[in-house]
Amino acid sequence: MTSDAVLEIPGFTHVYSGKVRDLYEPEGRDGQLLLVASDRISAFDFILDPPIPDKGAVLTQLSLWWFEQLADLVPNHVVSVDVPEVVAGRAVLVQKLDMVPVECVARAYLTGGGLREYAADGTVSGLSLPEGLRDGDKFDVPIFTASTKAPMGEHDQPMPFEAVEIEVGTVLAGTLRDLTTRILARGNEIAAERGILIADTKVEFGLDADGTLVLADEVLTPDSSRFWPADQWEPGHTQPSFDKEFVREWLLSDESGWSKSSGIAPPVLPAEVVERTRAKYVEAYERLTGQTF
Ligand code: ATP
Ligand code: MG
Repeated sequence: MTSDAVLEIPGFTHVYSGKVRDLYEPEGRDGQLLLVASDRISAFDFILDPPIPDKGAVLTQLSLWWFEQLADLVPNHVVSVDVPEVVAGRAVLVQKLDMVPVECVARAYLTGGGLREYAADGTVSGLSLPEGLRDGDKFDVPIFTASTKAPMGEHDQPMPFEAVEIEVGTVLAGTLRDLTTRILARGNEIAAERGILIADTKVEFGLDADGTLVLADEVLTPDSSRFWPADQWEPGHTQPSFDKEFVREWLLSDESGWSKSSGIAPPVLPAEVVERTRAKYVEAYERLTGQTF
C-alpha cells in the first residue's frame, strides 16, 4: 500500500502540504509539528504519478539516522518518533521552527543544475569556478550554492552568497554556509566507508524560540542529495546514482515522450520505473545505515 494522501488524524490538524511532506499541528501542544513524509515523488517541480511505495518511510528513517550522526555538529528539530499508528515509521514530531527562507545547497562534485549554470557562464550560484571542469569533477572543498525557496509551483532560483547575506544578514549567512558545507563533508566521510559519494545536498534550517539555528526538514536523503557508487565514479559523463536522478533521466529520455520545456505534467511512471526507484531508495538506506529496511 502506498501513502500519498492527506489523512484525518485524531488529535492533529492538517496545516500544510508540500510536494512530499504533510504537516499537522498537534492539538494543545504549541510549538510542535507532526512532519509526515508521504510516498509522493517530485521531479522538475512536478508531483509524479504514481507514488513510490515505502519512500516516505525510507526518507524518515534515513533522516533520523543522519540527524544522530550529525548531532555534534548541529542541533536538529526532532522531538519524538512516538507518532500515531497510521503514520508510524514515516512521521516525526518536530519542533516548529521559523524557517530560514533559503535552500542551503552544498556541492562536493559538479553536476546537475550546478553543471548547467557552469556550462552557461562559468559560475555556480554566482561563484566563479576554474575552467575545464567536467560533469562529476570533485571540488577541492564543498562549495555553498544557495537557492531561493520558491512558492509551490515555481522553480527555485540560484542565489549568490551576497543575496543570502541581504536576505538573512551576514552573520547568519556565514553560519548557513559553514554548517551546510560541514554537513556535506561529514556526510561524505561516513558515506565513503560505505562506498558512496554524496555529490551534493540541500538542507533547510529554522530558528527556534530562543533564536538558536536548528537543522530541520530532512537530511542527506536520496530526495535531497545525489548518491553515487564510489567504485563507478568517472568524471566526464552522468554518474550512475541511488537517488531521484534515475526518475529524472527516465523523464528526459525518448521513452517517456515528455519534454521538460512543454510545461505540461509528466506522464505516469511505468511500473518498472516505480519498482527500480523504490529499490534505489531502499539500497541507499541499507548501504548508508548498514541496516535492512
Ligand atoms: P515547499 O514547502 O516549498 O512545498 P517541498 O515541496 O520540498 O517545499 P516538503 O518537503 O514536501 O516541501 O514539505 C516540508 C515543509 O515543511 C517545507 O516547507 C519545510 O520548509 C517545512 N518544515 C520542515 N521542518 C520544519 C520545522 N521543523 N518547522 C517548520 N517547518 C518545517
Ligand atoms: Mg522538501
